[in-house]
Amino acid sequence: MSGDCLFCRIASGDQPASIVYENDDVVAFEDISPQAPTHLLVIPRDHLESTNELSRDDAELAGRIIIACKEIAESMGFAADGYRVVINCGSDGGQVVQHLHAHVLAGRSLGWPPG
Ligand code: 5GP
Ligand code: ZN
Repeated sequence: MSGDCLFCRIASGDQPASIVYENDDVVAFEDISPQAPTHLLVIPRDHLESTNELSRDDAELAGRIIIACKEIAESMGFAADGYRVVINCGSDGGQVVQHLHAHVLAGRSLGWPPG
């Protein structure tokens, strides 16, 4: 937990967010600036800055983040139509919030490649 980290504050409940899913490892909530009809952020409860901080010891956590995306897709009913899971890292990757998070985008046909 980092007190000056926005997503740590959301995970702890100190900062309001529209939470759609949570378990022992992750919290998922609606993005405040949605880029698709469904745009969620899935974050680990533990503060990790980005994928650059992941080590092999984090393999289970990294897998649980992806599995959470899939479980959310199923429970919210967009798994069959499809969706995109995106993790931005660093400045060239477009990362703005320095707490590891997976974007889950769904509800429209998404273009490729990203900009
Ligand atoms: P990044 O660019 O770091 O991959 O994505 C950060 C995301 O966090 C952006 O899509 C942005 O809209 C979202 N975001 C920024 N501040 C807030 C906030 O206070 N609440 C929520 N729910 N999302 C936020
Ligand atoms: Zn954090």
